[in-house]
Amino acid sequence: MRAAVVHAFDQPLRIEEVPVPEPAHGQVVVRMETCGICHTDIHAAHGDWPVKPAPPFIPGHEGVGIIDRVGEGVTTYAEGDRVAIPWLGYACGACEYCASGRETLCAKQENSGYSVNGAYAEYALADASFVGAVPEGMDPLDAAPLTCAGVTTYKAVKVSGARSTDLVAVYGIGGLGHLAVQYARIAGASVAAVDLIDSKLELATALGAEYVFNAATEDPVEGIVELGGADQAIVLAVSPTACEQAYRSLKRGGTLVLVGLPADNVMALPIFETVLGGITVTGSIVGTRVDLAETFQLHMEGRTQVVRESRRLEDVNESFEQIEKGDVDARLVIDFR
Ligand code: NAD
Ligand code: ZN
Ligand code: ZN
Repeated sequence: MRAAVVHAFDQPLRIEEVPVPEPAHGQVVVRMETCGICHTDIHAAHGDWPVKPAPPFIPGHEGVGIIDRVGEGVTTYAEGDRVAIPWLGYACGACEYCASGRETLCAKQENSGYSVNGAYAEYALADASFVGAVPEGMDPLDAAPLTCAGVTTYKAVKVSGARSTDLVAVYGIGGLGHLAVQYARIAGASVAAVDLIDSKLELATALGAEYVFNAATEDPVEGIVELGGADQAIVLAVSPTACEQAYRSLKRGGTLVLVGLPADNVMALPIFETVLGGITVTGSIVGTRVDLAETFQLHMEGRTQVVRESRRLEDVNESFEQIEKGDVDARLVIDFR
């Protein structure tokens, strides 16, 4: 089968022939139809984060496809079922986090396309207990971005606690951000969208953002504070500056939700203002299997719109460059069909 493989953090991915994986006990082999390109895959390929993947590896954690083979002991899925392969490829099921419905915090987790091979390949291996059932009739080109960008921002809005009278500042209107705007609107909140690129802000407006700020040409903090300040700020931009601006956009009692993971791993957090303002700062990492099912449900109800463009597997390096330049409407999706 063909796959896009990372061999070194300073080299482009190579498209090569590799063996089709064999399903072990509890695993399935999925014939990929689509796989979204998450900015996380770019961080993975560049070795941007403190915990690094070990090359050679195959990225991809927005994989959607048809189960081709099931391993021994798999009872929940059968050949022919359409499933999604998310970032949370495996969790132990027994630790305090797994047992309390916080499986995304499991210390024994495996991550698709990072600690184990992912879905930038014609076939991918997955743990049957952690794939998501793609609802009948959902377009695989929509299902792919929902599998990470969707579930992550759906969860981040939940974590933010946004309610109908709140103003949510969304920093970064990319693959994640264009969906975050929609989930904040579904929660009933008003949205102030911030990006560096006007076309992204136009998209945010089309998706329901009431206010937009271009941080390249104006001070988003000033603009949002003038509105009374944000009750919640969710950062999906790959930038510590955006984290700091999001923090300063908050009103007293507000909540900062960090989601984006820039290589430059540190932000300035003023202690005095955090204490006196009663500010909450929290991180949010992807979502659970239940969050993914809810994300799919909202889409089937026609309440979300996935903005995406198709690419071929061979286009992966060029696609990475386009995403890094911001030269993409929202999400690029590899179409294997
Ligand atoms: P993306 O490249 O599609 O979107 C990033 C957006 O941020 C772009 O629109 C860009 O123009 C904008 N931006 C960049 N600098 C900015 C700034 N200073 N102010 C405002 N906007 C700015 O990326 P994505 O796929 O949406 O991923 C975003 C980040 O989230 C990545 O770091 C990724 O690794 C991370 N991520 C985290 C989780 C999680 O669970 N916490 C899950 C998925 C992705
Ligand atoms: Zn992702
Ligand atoms: Zn666990």
